[in-house]
Amino acid sequence: MHMNKLNGKVALVTGGARGIGAAIAFAMAKEGATVVLTDIDKPAADAAADAIRKEGGGCIAMLHDVSNPASWAAVIAETERQLGALDILVNNAGILVVRSIAQTSLEDFHRVSAVNTDGVFLGIKYGFASMGKRGGSIINLSSLGGMIGAANQIAYGASKGAVRLMTKCAMAEAASLGLPIRCNSIHPGVIHTPMTEAHYGFGAGTGVDEMFASAIPSNRLGTAQDVAAAVVYIASDEASYVNGAELMVDGGILAAPIQKPKAPN
Ligand code: NAP
Repeated sequence: MHMNKLNGKVALVTGGARGIGAAIAFAMAKEGATVVLTDIDKPAADAAADAIRKEGGGCIAMLHDVSNPASWAAVIAETERQLGALDILVNNAGILVVRSIAQTSLEDFHRVSAVNTDGVFLGIKYGFASMGKRGGSIINLSSLGGMIGAANQIAYGASKGAVRLMTKCAMAEAASLGLPIRCNSIHPGVIHTPMTEAHYGFGAGTGVDEMFASAIPSNRLGTAQDVAAAVVYIASDEASYVNGAELMVDGGILAAPIQKPKAPN
């Protein structure tokens, strides 16, 4: 842990116990940030924070349900009490339901919306209140699925499209209020994490990884570290003029969907 792009910053990462959130927390600590790693699974959050501290990084874990306003109020108050002020907020926690329209109940739709949409709305709301005139950087995890549609993802797509636009509304409102808070969205494509292991069977050696990779211009699945590197950049002062942006981390899928280089005739 010897780099310093985020030295002196306090960063809150939601859903940090595993997958992309854990990689972001690790990468931010490596760059000198003190990380507040939150998750609905407290033992898993504790374990992830321990692993970061073992590598010499600064990290504390907190229980957090991003869909619950009281939980946000408690996490922000505790962050301010222990660490002074919040500089970076990564709204990463999210859930995926893969189900046809016919099989998606209204309850399913609301469950996805509660975490992915309400959770990011609340993060922006409490993040603004905490950062205020001091300013900071808010980074929201949308998705490739927040840019284009996919079968069997009606609830997820609705929530990730909302994250994309909430980011831009927040950016506009910060500007109109004169608050130096940058707001950007990150759009991962197909990333190998516990979420996609559960839904698509990645990493099981069944050939499914290769099947997905063959439809990706970069010819491989993304890693949580690929996404974390982009988040660290957007969070850092190097990106001080990057505001309201949507950064694809998708190996080129959106730019050139399902095309593979062909040998010349
Ligand atoms: P993941 O492996 O499922 O990890 C998500 C973490 O969030 C888990 O630790 C989960 O806890 C936690 N969480 C769930 N509900 C929560 C809540 N209400 N409050 C706080 N934490 C909660 O997912 P991931 O693949 O790393 O995805 C991270 C983000 O990237 C998500 O927003 C996802 O939509 C987005 N994304 C992922 C991909 C991809 O290919 N993986 C692509 C595009 C976008 P539990 O384990 O206890 O549920």
